[in-house]
Amino acid sequence: MSKLSLKLGIIFFVTLFCIESFMMFFLHVSLTNSRVEEELDSLQARGNSHRAILEQNFDLETLSHVALMESEARTDVVITDKDGKVLANSQFHPETEDYFTNLKKSIPYMGLILEDNWEREAFIATISPIQKDQTTIGYVFMFQNTESIHALMERLNKHFLIVGIVSGLVTIIIIIILSRKLAYPLIQMKEATLKLSKGDFTVALNTNGQDELSDLSNAIQKLSEELNHLRQERKDFLSSIAHELRTPLTFIKGYTDILYKRDLTEEAQHQYLAIIIEETNRLARLIRDLFDLAKMDENSFIVTKEPLDMTEFFANIEVKLSPAFQEKQIHFTVQCEERLTLMADSSRLEQIIMNLLNNALAYCAAGDTTTVTVKRLNQTLRIQIEDTGRGIPKIDLPFIFDRFYRVEKSRTRALGGSGIGLAIVKELVHAHGGEVTVHSVETKGTTFELLFKGVGTNDNNLINR
Ligand code: ADP
Repeated sequence: MSKLSLKLGIIFFVTLFCIESFMMFFLHVSLTNSRVEEELDSLQARGNSHRAILEQNFDLETLSHVALMESEARTDVVITDKDGKVLANSQFHPETEDYFTNLKKSIPYMGLILEDNWEREAFIATISPIQKDQTTIGYVFMFQNTESIHALMERLNKHFLIVGIVSGLVTIIIIIILSRKLAYPLIQMKEATLKLSKGDFTVALNTNGQDELSDLSNAIQKLSEELNHLRQERKDFLSSIAHELRTPLTFIKGYTDILYKRDLTEEAQHQYLAIIIEETNRLARLIRDLFDLAKMDENSFIVTKEPLDMTEFFANIEVKLSPAFQEKQIHFTVQCEERLTLMADSSRLEQIIMNLLNNALAYCAAGDTTTVTVKRLNQTLRIQIEDTGRGIPKIDLPFIFDRFYRVEKSRTRALGGSGIGLAIVKELVHAHGGEVTVHSVETKGTTFELLFKGVGTNDNNLINR
C-alpha cells in the first residue's frame, strides 16, 4: 500500500476502532447491568410472593411447603423468625449464615436487595419481611447462585468477541478500499506532476467527477496541455525565426560572393547591391519586430499614453504613405472625424496603422481602393482600414494574427512579409487596452477594425482614460 493510503487507512482505523470500542463497551455494561437487575427483580418478586403465602398461614406446614417448592428451583429460600433464627430452608449454605445473624433494623415492606455483587460473591440475595398486624414476625431470604450469571456473561462476552472480530475485519476491508480510492487520484496526480517536471507533457488523468480532487486533476490536465502547446509553439517559433533569418542571409551571402568574385558591369553591380540593401533592410525590420515581440512577451513593453490629435496624426500618415499608394495606382483616402483625441502611444499607434496600411498596399493591385475611416462611437474610437484587395481565404482568417502565419507562404515572402506584422498589431492594440477584428472576403477585400477606449474631443479637452 502506498504511503498516503496507509496513512489515511491508519487514521480511519484508529478513529473507527475507538468509536467501535467505546460503543461495544457501553453496550456490554448496559446489557450486563440490565440482565443482573432483571435477575435481582425476579428474585425479589419470588421472595415477596412466598412472603404473601406465609403472611396468610405462618405455620410449620406452610413453611415446609414453601421450602419444598423452592428445592426444585435454581433459587433457594431461607425463612427465619423476626430475630433471624432459621425456621425452614430449601437448602442450607453456610456462607449465607451472616445475613440472618446480622439483620438490618429497618427493612421496607417491598423488600431489600442484600447482595448484588455477582462478580465477587457466590450468591445474590434479597430479603422480604413477613408482617402480621403491622409487626414483623419473620423474614424470607432468597438466594441465587451467581454461577448462572457468570455463565450468561461468558456467553455474552463470546458473542461480543465474535461481533468485534467480524466488525473489525469488515472495517479494515472498507478502510483499505476507501483509502485506496481516495489516495489513488492523488497518487496519479503526483505521478503526473513528476512527469511534467521531467518535461513529459503526455499526461492523461481521470477528470470526471465534481469534487475538489477532480478539479485538481482538471487543472493539472489543462496545465499539461498548455505546457505541451507552449512547447510546440516555441519549437515552431524558433524554426520560423531560423527560416526567416536564413533566407535573407542566403541572398546577401550569394550576391556578395558574386560581387566579390566576378567582373560585373556597373549596372549589374548596382542591381545586386540594391538586392543586398533590400535584404539587409528586411533583416533589420525582422530583428526589430522580433525584439518588440520579445519585449511584449516579457511584459517589459512600455506604452506611454498621451492625448493625440487624430486629425493631425492621420494627416501625417497620409503624407507618409500616399506616394507609395500612388506609385501602385491604388486609390488611398483617409476620412477622420474632426477634433478627436485619443489617449495612446504615438509611435506605437503609428506602428499599428503602418503595419495594416503596408499590408493593404502589398495585397491590393492597381485600381483597388484603400480607405481609412476614423470615427467616434460613444466612448470608443473606431479606426477602420478597408481595402478592395485580394482578401483572405476563410480558412486562414482565424490564424492571421498568429506569429509567422502567412496565407501564401512563397508569394507573401516575395512581397516582403514575414508573418509577424499582424501579431505585433494585435499585441500593441491589446497593450493599449483595445480590440482588433478582421472581416475579409476572398477576391473582394479586407477590413480591419480597431476599437480604442480613451477618446475625447479637442473642444472641451475631455479625455476619458
Ligand atoms: P506579412 O508580414 O506576411 O504581411 P502579417 O502578419 O502582416 O504578415 O499578415 C499575415 C497574413 O495575412 C499575410 O501573409 C497575408 O496573407 C494576410 N493579410 C494581411 N493583411 C492583408 C490584407 N489587407 N489583404 C489580404 N491579405 C492580408
